[in-house]
Amino acid sequence: MAEYEEFSIPKSHPRYHSLIFREKLARGFREGYVVPQGLIAHGRGEAFDYLIGECTTEPARKAMYAAVAFMLLAERPVISVNGNVAALVAEDIVKLAEKTNAAIEVNLFYRTSERVRKIAEIFRKLGVEVLGTDEDQLCTVPELLSERRKVSCRGIYVADVVLVALEDGDRTEALRKMGKKVIAIDLNPLSRTARTANITIVDNITRAVPEMIKIADELRLEPRDKLEKIVHSYNNEETLREIIEHICKRLTELARTQIKIL
Ligand code: ATP
Ligand code: MG
Repeated sequence: MAEYEEFSIPKSHPRYHSLIFREKLARGFREGYVVPQGLIAHGRGEAFDYLIGECTTEPARKAMYAAVAFMLLAERPVISVNGNVAALVAEDIVKLAEKTNAAIEVNLFYRTSERVRKIAEIFRKLGVEVLGTDEDQLCTVPELLSERRKVSCRGIYVADVVLVALEDGDRTEALRKMGKKVIAIDLNPLSRTARTANITIVDNITRAVPEMIKIADELRLEPRDKLEKIVHSYNNEETLREIIEHICKRLTELARTQIKIL
C-alpha cells in the first residue's frame, strides 16, 4: 500500500482505516476539490458508523443486492459523484460503473468550475471521461435552486436509475419527482436522503462500493427475471427499520455489558 505511506499512520493503529479515509479527505480538501462542508458530512457519517459497528449489516447487504440488480436492469444508469466520493473511492466507482454499464457524472452542491475540473481529472487519470463538466451540455433539474440543478443532458437528465452517495435530501427528492429511481448510499438511516430514496444502502461508501462490485460479478450473468424478482421483493421501509433496530439492539447490549467498543 505504497499510496498510504505518505500518511504515515502505523498499520497497527486500531483505527487505521478510519484514519486513512480522514487523511484522504484532508488531502482532497488541500487539493481544492473537497469542501469543508464535506468534512463535516464525513464526521456525521462516522458517528453513525460507530453506532452501526463499522461493518456491513445484513439489511445493508440486502439493499446492495437490490441496488445492483436495479442498475443491471436499468437502461441508463448513472453514478453521481461529488468531492468526498472522488477522494474516498474513485477507483472502485470506476469498476462498479464498468460492471453495471453506468455513466459517471459529477454533481456538486458547492459547484465551481475548478472543483468540477479537478474531480473530472481524477477520473480521467483512471481512464474515464465523466459527464456533468462545464464542457458538457447541461440541463436543469426542476425544483432545485442551487448549482446542483445543473445536470448532464446525456446523463442524470435522461437516466432511469441514479446512484447517489453522501447526498443531500432535497436533491434526492427532486430526482424522485423527476421520476428517477434513486439508490442512495448513506450512513444515516434517519436522513431525508435515506428516507426518500427507492433503495438506501446504510453503510460506509468505502465498504459498500467494493461489496457492490463483487455482487455485480455475481448478478451479471443472472437472467433478467431473477434480477426483477430481487428488485420486486425488496422493501426499503422494512430495510431502514431493520437497520434502526440493529443500532438499538447493539447499543442496548453495549449498555448492559459495558464491553470495550474497539
Ligand atoms: P439530509 O439532507 O439527507 O437530511 P444531511 O443534511 O444530514 O442529510 P448531507 O450533508 O446533506 O446530510 O449529506 C451527507 C450524508 O452522507 C449524511 O447523511 C452522512 O451521514 C452521510 N455520509 C458521510 N460520510 C459517509 C460515508 N463515508 N459513507 C456513507 N455515508 C456517509
Ligand atoms: Mg442535507
